[in-house]
Amino acid sequence: MGTLKFDVIIDGTSALAKIGALYLKEKGLKVALLGDNRKIKWPASAHVALNLSHLQMLSDVGINLSHTRFFDTIDVRMNHVPLIFSSSDIFYQNFGAIVELEGLNKASTKAAAKIPQITGKDWDQQGDYLLCLKPHRFENSPAAQLKHHVATALIMATGWESTTARQYFDNNEIFGILPTEKKNTFALIHCSAKKYDTSSLLKRLQKISAEVDSIDAFQDYQPIHSFHYDNYHHGRLIGCHNACHMVHPMAGFGLNMGLSDIRSLGYHSLNNLPDYASDRFTKNSQTIAILQSLYQLYCDPGFRASIVDFSVSQINQTRLLKSFFMTQAQSV
Ligand SMILES: Cc1cc2nc3c(=O)[nH]c(=O)nc-3n(C[C@H](O)[C@H](O)[C@H](O)COP(=O)(O)OP(=O)(O)OC[C@H]3O[C@@H](n4cnc5c(N)ncnc54)[C@H](O)[C@@H]3O)c2cc1C
Repeated sequence: MGTLKFDVIIDGTSALAKIGALYLKEKGLKVALLGDNRKIKWPASAHVALNLSHLQMLSDVGINLSHTRFFDTIDVRMNHVPLIFSSSDIFYQNFGAIVELEGLNKASTKAAAKIPQITGKDWDQQGDYLLCLKPHRFENSPAAQLKHHVATALIMATGWESTTARQYFDNNEIFGILPTEKKNTFALIHCSAKKYDTSSLLKRLQKISAEVDSIDAFQDYQPIHSFHYDNYHHGRLIGCHNACHMVHPMAGFGLNMGLSDIRSLGYHSLNNLPDYASDRFTKNSQTIAILQSLYQLYCDPGFRASIVDFSVSQINQTRLLKSFFMTQAQSV
């Protein structure tokens, strides 16, 4: 396509960088990875929820995951008021898949073994474009930032359904819980301004559900920022994933949004970068606006619990509204 050896060089060797390389290669581009193949030590709790079209995207580029669990029910509770999304209610077979990040890393490394890898600072002598996945090389205008503290762990709970994903909003704290491939074991993400240690977190969880027996692999609270930049392309730099946006981890969208960016880039290709940039900025702005307002509405101390409880119970009884929310959430 271009005058240099590679059409696009991908900055990084993370799982998403490798998936992106494989996907863009399938679209006919000459690609290389730039980086040092640094190993990330993933915590045992590191699982993500992927939507099924993204799971298909992985399989299309030769990444087949052996331990993938599907979930068909999402149990959301706002101050104990339930909002249950059941896939049979809204015509999906499953909502999505739960993927262990260590497994995804290994499988993508194996599938991308033949992608050329370059090191050094002269990417611009070797490729026409650099695709940035992290902000450090991608200059950007300021963006609104929202900070939260997140801890992760594994929870053991004997009575819980193994095909239900849970999201509990309780007294200005948020708990995201995904079933893992291990029996009675769930991956927890806890978002809270207040920090707990292992034993106080267990007591806190048991107040929400008496079925929680124990917790393990606790990873202490880390600050995480949410942001969105308005610039997805300038000059020979193309931005996607965390170079342009980072979202609240509770929503289960971070990796999904990165995969959607890559898919859009493959669709628009390098001849049409302004369209890629405007497509992704518009779609991601909508998703982020919904996620941020939900977070602020709930975690803002001024929030009116009774109004939210009432709205949640109304939505729970209205199949059409539930179907609308899930359709929006599936097309990140
Ligand atoms: C707690 C958490 C939950 C997430 N859940 C989802 C999800 O359900 N769906 C989705 O599409 N994206 C999710 N994401 C985003 C997704 O994990 C990252 O975008 C993806 O792994 C790409 O990683 P990266 O290479 O950019 O590394 P980064 O996101 O920069 O990861 C760096 C560090 O963050 C930690 N980390 C990242 N992801 C997780 C995780 N899932 N659990 C525990 N620790 C983690 C690890 O310690 C890792 O070393 C989540 C992110 C976090 C932090």
